[in-house]
Amino acid sequence: DAHLDGIEALNGRLNAYITVVADQARAAARQADGALAGGDVPVLTGIPLAIKDLFCTQGVRTTAASRILGNFIPPYESTVTANLLREGAVFLGKVNLDEFAMGSSNATSAFGPVVSPWTRGDGASLVPGGSSGGSAAAVAAGLAMGATGTDTGGSIRQPAAFTGIAGIKPTYGRCSRWGTIAFASSLDQAGPLARSVEDCAILLGAMAGYDPKDSTSADRAVPDYRSACTRSLRGVRIGIPKEYRPEGLSPEIEAMWESGIAWLREAGCEIVDVSLPHTKYGLATYYIVAPAEASSNLARYDGVRFGERVAGATLDELYENTRAAGFGAEVQRRVLIGTYVLSSGYYDAYYLRAQKVRALILRDFTEAFEKVDALLTPTAPSAAFALGEKMDDPVQMYLNDIFTVPASMAGVPAMSVPAAVDAKGLPLGLQVIGRPWDEEGVLAVSAAIE
Ligand code: GLN
Repeated sequence: DAHLDGIEALNGRLNAYITVVADQARAAARQADGALAGGDVPVLTGIPLAIKDLFCTQGVRTTAASRILGNFIPPYESTVTANLLREGAVFLGKVNLDEFAMGSSNATSAFGPVVSPWTRGDGASLVPGGSSGGSAAAVAAGLAMGATGTDTGGSIRQPAAFTGIAGIKPTYGRCSRWGTIAFASSLDQAGPLARSVEDCAILLGAMAGYDPKDSTSADRAVPDYRSACTRSLRGVRIGIPKEYRPEGLSPEIEAMWESGIAWLREAGCEIVDVSLPHTKYGLATYYIVAPAEASSNLARYDGVRFGERVAGATLDELYENTRAAGFGAEVQRRVLIGTYVLSSGYYDAYYLRAQKVRALILRDFTEAFEKVDALLTPTAPSAAFALGEKMDDPVQMYLNDIFTVPASMAGVPAMSVPAAVDAKGLPLGLQVIGRPWDEEGVLAVSAAIE
């Protein structure tokens, strides 16, 4: 009830929730009360969560924050949300995001932008980051105890950093993608956002696990993530990649990074300088691979099988009218870029080349992890920016992903943990990147920073 009251009071301003399922949540909470009275219960019994509106939820509208899916009610439950329900979680509703998870500010949503619960001295409304901006704003404002997010190129980590909470993108394949609306299938990965590293650990343990319905899901046991949060860090080697210190990095970000290094030294870590030489190609290759896969994935929204339909005299016209009305500007831009880099004549020059560079980015990480156990970097190059800023300059927006994209390209786990506030009092986050499948190591280091 406290959470539902909070949503009632604040959602008009924050616009974090697209759909609230109050009756369903109250019924589930009553059931949880009953279960708790009976003794032994699953780990998330009665815990109120927000679900990014990219996860299909059976019988509950799922929009991907797009007009094209504005009336879509899935007949099935995504594996990740089914796993959370199995552990007793209570869903409060579906939260806002950038349309089809394409963006870094939550301003591309067809349901309007999310406003961060944080404000800065000059009174400007701030973005919560994106694409999981509704998840981050809901958790930061106390409108959910935790939330699901998805991260294709930073969409869990950057909003977590912007709103002063924690968020982890696990290793690609750790959480099933089944029933999660696809953006870029070789990069998309689900994960939790929550107010502490330990909460993230508990949520991730519930979300993760092998799923035969997703061919890229990993058949590996899910470790006890919660106990990893209290592990000793004595002798753990932390790499500081020199390429994450670009020319003109703000002194506040630099200072936060130095504090993080000092805290980890105190905790018994050994700090090692490392190099990830292909980092500089991360953004350029990401913004070829992700749109290419998006253009392929979004081809299904043709107005015929599901979602909105705008009629036309011919089949081609029906497609054109439906997509023109149903997709926002950023989604159209991605589909155009993706179609271009995949077209004959350009495929070798762009897409194939990007895939080769991606292999080099992964090799950088593999080589670094021969010397160190985890990497420490800032999550984003700045604190949250003002609503509307960067909207007329997509490249400026893409540059915000500079520190988060490489771990996505390599498929390795990475977490953002709140680490400092800037001169305006806004939160800043540090990013911990780990070896493939070593979410435990990432959580342990993050818990020490927190
Ligand atoms: N900001 C990045 C993009 O727009 C990442 C989004 C994401 O991780 N879903 O593609």
